[in-house]
Amino acid sequence: FFISFEGIDGSGKSTQTKLLKQALETAGHDVILTREPGGSPGAEEIRALVLQGDPDRWSAQTEILLFTAARRDHLERTIQPALDAGKVVICDRFADSTRMYQGLSRGDLRATVDKLHDLMIGVEPDLTLLIDMDPAEGLSRALSRNTVEERFEDFGEDLQAAMRKGFLSLAQEFSDRFVVIDGAQPVALVAQDILAATQKRTG
Ligand code: C5P
Repeated sequence: FFISFEGIDGSGKSTQTKLLKQALETAGHDVILTREPGGSPGAEEIRALVLQGDPDRWSAQTEILLFTAARRDHLERTIQPALDAGKVVICDRFADSTRMYQGLSRGDLRATVDKLHDLMIGVEPDLTLLIDMDPAEGLSRALSRNTVEERFEDFGEDLQAAMRKGFLSLAQEFSDRFVVIDGAQPVALVAQDILAATQKRTG
């Protein structure tokens, strides 16, 4: 079973992925927690190429190729082997992040993202948990934790607001696999909603 987490920066994904992993392990599942960009040695190298240094080093198109290359390696080396072994895979961001960040933030490149996805990835999560959160709150949380990547330090509130809207419309587009979670609640309640949504799907 393949679960992805999506949401804007500071929405609490990394905390919630860990809590879900613990809860599912307690319920007897074999779980791996992974993240994008990255999640395999080769994909982590690509992550460093993309997220560190000069933000204008890569064109928008080249960046889509790099993110897709990282995802392909991650899928081959980490995700697919774990799914084949019957494990639950929890992934902090997956292709929906590329549909949003690479597909929306530097012009409308969604069609390019989708074509490459069909060609090179072709896999969607069984369940995508969107942690929905007010961008101002998300940004201040991310800044206070000092976890905003160098590459994205200038991601302002306007762009985060556009991303939030974009994620919510993706949730409608892929309503068969998306569940929207209210990320403004206290951490424990967010975790409860996430576990309930997951158990409903995994049975
Ligand atoms: O999920 P995490 O906060 O680690 O993401 C690191 C940064 O990379 C974020 O600022 C996010 O906006 C950006 N990102 C991106 N495109 C992706 C995935 C993440 O621009 N496909």
